[in-house]
Amino acid sequence: MSNDSPIISIKDVSKFFDHVVALKNVSLDVAQGEKVVIIGPSGSGKSTLLRTINRLENISRGRIVVDGHDLDDKTVDINKVRMEVGMVFQSFNLFPHKTVLQNVTLAPIKLKGMTKSAAEAMAQQLLDKVGILEKSDVFPAKLSGGQQQRVAIARALAMSPKIMLFDEPTSALDPEMIGEVLDVMAKLAREGMTMVCVTHEMGFAREVADRIVFMADGEILEIASPETFYTNPSHPRTQKFLEQIL
Ligand code: ADP
Ligand code: MG
Repeated sequence: MSNDSPIISIKDVSKFFDHVVALKNVSLDVAQGEKVVIIGPSGSGKSTLLRTINRLENISRGRIVVDGHDLDDKTVDINKVRMEVGMVFQSFNLFPHKTVLQNVTLAPIKLKGMTKSAAEAMAQQLLDKVGILEKSDVFPAKLSGGQQQRVAIARALAMSPKIMLFDEPTSALDPEMIGEVLDVMAKLAREGMTMVCVTHEMGFAREVADRIVFMADGEILEIASPETFYTNPSHPRTQKFLEQIL
């Protein structure tokens, strides 16, 4: 694959849940290393769109190609694609009966056949990177929400993904913990990770996003640079939404 073909290509994608139209003709290309922030009101299809990228949702129409793999192609090994796409959710979903270190080493050992010692060495590096190495041996319940979310990020990174998807990673956090998670995400962005983030954190979006995508009612209504998006949005729905959250 050449460098200028998008690492994620979403073309004319629609998704129906019975009679609910969750996505309506959505098209979006994401370049390697690009950071895209998706915002929009609740129920606008943001989570559904993210979930289609690693086929946690099947699409009803259209085409999605991730790192050269057409997700609809029956011969594509979806588990292989999923290893390339890390995902972090609003709820941290750590394994409660495993330590922090075990949470991070589990998938590389099981799915990638990494040795325990190699996985632990890598996990320690990642935990250090997210600033939580000293908690390696504790159980998730002993951690704050911000700490748990940083472990969840380390766990996703342990599969060496090419793409990271974040679905409102800070919206379940107490305000004083939001910054520590956004800082980790910004660091990842600076290192060149391709990122698609659903977040309404404007400071983060302004600093990190290459483009902001605004969704409403399952459609992409506007795609703009952060500068244009926040100061001079073109779509009336965007203007109205920004007035509500700012
Ligand atoms: P957002 O993340 O922007 O809040 P979602 O992608 O979660 O929006 O939801 C988009 C629409 O699809 C909503 O109307 C929601 O109720 C519907 N929806 C999402 N997931 C399901 C599901 N598993 N079953 C039925 N409807 C769903
Ligand atoms: Mg959502």
